[in-house]
Amino acid sequence: MAENFQKLTAIRGMNDLLPADSARWERLERLARDWLRSYGYRNIRTPVLEFTRLFTRGIGEVTDIVEKEMYSFTDSLNGDLLAMRPEFTAGTVRAAIEHNLLYDRPQRLFSMGPVFRHERPQRGRYRQFHQISVEAMGFAGPDVDAELIVMLARLWQILGLTDIRLELNSLGASEERAAHRDALIAYLEGFKDQLDEDGKRRMYTNPLRVLDTKNPALQEMANGAPRLLDFLGAESLAHFEGVKQRLDDAGIAYTINPRLVRGLDYYNLTVFEWVTDRLGAQGTVCGGGRYDGLIGLLGGKPAPAVGFAIGMERLLDLWSQGDAAEAEPECDVYVVHQGDAAARRAQRIGEQLRDAGLDVIVHAGSASFKSQMKRADGSGAEIAVILGDDELAAGEASVKTLRSQADGSPGTQRRVALDALADTLIQSFDSDVD
Ligand code: ATP
Ligand code: MG
Repeated sequence: MAENFQKLTAIRGMNDLLPADSARWERLERLARDWLRSYGYRNIRTPVLEFTRLFTRGIGEVTDIVEKEMYSFTDSLNGDLLAMRPEFTAGTVRAAIEHNLLYDRPQRLFSMGPVFRHERPQRGRYRQFHQISVEAMGFAGPDVDAELIVMLARLWQILGLTDIRLELNSLGASEERAAHRDALIAYLEGFKDQLDEDGKRRMYTNPLRVLDTKNPALQEMANGAPRLLDFLGAESLAHFEGVKQRLDDAGIAYTINPRLVRGLDYYNLTVFEWVTDRLGAQGTVCGGGRYDGLIGLLGGKPAPAVGFAIGMERLLDLWSQGDAAEAEPECDVYVVHQGDAAARRAQRIGEQLRDAGLDVIVHAGSASFKSQMKRADGSGAEIAVILGDDELAAGEASVKTLRSQADGSPGTQRRVALDALADTLIQSFDSDVD
């Protein structure tokens, strides 16, 4: 009974994006699309829901995502085990295999949109959040690894971000990781008593993740652990060198972080993160790396691949700092009218102005002239077109500039023939741009 009266709210950790904020999102999305296109990346859109087994296989059973963060449920209609995508890579690889995208050429692909993880919500950590995810499939690198990183440096430049730094590591090949893993387990066994529950369990299942601990008491243990970099063979080292050389060529600074392992199982060779100190604890804005084994693991013909994912909420948070959001106008022109005949005419005029390429709001509903003008002002429009009995009788409209002029003088008002209205307004907007 009581639940009938429960207040309807959004789900915790899943945010509404209101118009005041969505303008900034749209701007970021536009910039990002242009930036992606400038490197030849094309958009792929895969479903929000996939079979859960795609992620357990593709991301790994012993990862935070699969162990505790995935929205996985049984489809009550047919019993299928489904999951909301917690990231884009697995779905993109699935689609590339299913549609044979890598048959005759490599692919540069990107996705942009919501992903879902059941985490404890806090700043920079939500349950529905957004990623820009980029996958270069069919490329062995190291050239394309470096290209992806250079590409990200350009995005930071486009957005005017400076306090963001690059951390780099190599995870080598699977045999190298296996040798390192044995050494690491032997080392961790010496610290068994100090490890927490997660650590004790992970020590054997995913010992690299034990080093990823945020527990300050375990930092010394983690610092002294055998380094994967010391286990890399000639080929892996050459790949790593190739990436570093190209970053040097591009003038991109980085620090080698031998402890950087990333949360997902499937990475090999190059891994990297872009980190900032300006977002508190959730400072990783972008993470990426190579995943040469994933396509084969998911049933495709094996092909190398590399990619990254940007957390859009964190990026926007960083981008907003020091740059007060300026409200975007709702329209260019707001049409105010009085009387039935004028109201009907106003609707047609709105369509004509839109034909001419203007963004137009025609006042809807009846209201006093004064309150319509107030609404026009509030819309951010530059111009109000006013249609009253007088104007209509003369076949004219009054055109009023709403924002005060650059020199501080108040707006002007003049009469314009309805026939010439669209042209006149277009001209005045064009001369504004000059
Ligand atoms: P973290 O260590 O912060 O949990 P992660 O390694 O789980 O990050 P990835 O799976 O690499 O993150 O996702 C790529 C990016 O997506 C991250 O670098 C971050 O910017 C963003 N991100 C990850 N989880 C969240 C979340 N719950 N809310 C908002 N953004 C997130
Ligand atoms: Mg995480």
